[in-house]
Amino acid sequence: MVTKNYPDPKLNEKLRDRYYRRDQSNPEFTKETEKLAGSMAHMCYQCGTCTGGCPSAPRSTYRIREFMRRGVLGLEEEALTDPDLWLCTTCYSCTDRCPRDLAPTDVIMAMRNLAFRRDIIPVNFLKTVTAIYASGHGVPNNDVNRAAREKLGLTRDPPTTHMYPEYIKGIRKILDHYNLKENADRIIKEREG
Ligand code: SF4
Ligand code: SF4
Repeated sequence: MVTKNYPDPKLNEKLRDRYYRRDQSNPEFTKETEKLAGSMAHMCYQCGTCTGGCPSAPRSTYRIREFMRRGVLGLEEEALTDPDLWLCTTCYSCTDRCPRDLAPTDVIMAMRNLAFRRDIIPVNFLKTVTAIYASGHGVPNNDVNRAAREKLGLTRDPPTTHMYPEYIKGIRKILDHYNLKENADRIIKEREG
C-alpha cells in the first residue's frame, strides 16, 4: 500500500488510521453525497474495479475505492480533508467499469462541491475559475498553440469564446449566479495575500 505523506503531520496521522469509529461517522454526509452525485454510494461492494482502471491510481496515493468507502461510512472529515480528493481527472473510466452501475466520478464531484462549501479547495482549481471568468477557458489559448494550429491549417483560435468573445458575458453570468468568482478571489487572497 502506498503511504500518504502530506506536510500536515496531523492529517498524515488521521489518514493512516484505518479503524472505523462510529462517532466519526456522519450519516448526513452519505445522504448529501448521494443526493448531489445522483449515485447510490452505499451500493458499492468494494470490488476495486474502479481503482484498477483509474489513471491516477498508479501515479499517486489516490484511490477512488477508498473515497467510495468513506462516502458509505459517512467519514466526512477524512473524505473532504484528504488532498487526494482533487487528483481525480474526471475521465469517467471508473463509472464505465463499475459492475454495480455506480458513478464514482460523480461521487467525487459531489464531495468536491461539499468541500468547496467549507473553503477546502486547492488554489490551482480556483485559478482555473478565474481563467474561465476572464476568457471562457480553463486553459486559454496561447501563441505556441496558435502557431501549431496554423501549421495544421486550422484557425489561430478555436471557434469558442476565443473567436466569439461576446459569449464570455454569458459564462460570467453563470459563474456569478453561483458566486464562484467572488469566492475564488476571496480564498486566493486569504491564502496568497
Ligand atoms: S467498481 Fe463500483 S462497486 Fe466496485 S469498488 Fe468501485 S464503486 Fe464500488
Ligand atoms: S474518473 Fe477519476 S476516479 Fe474515476 S477512473 Fe477517472 S481519474 Fe479515476
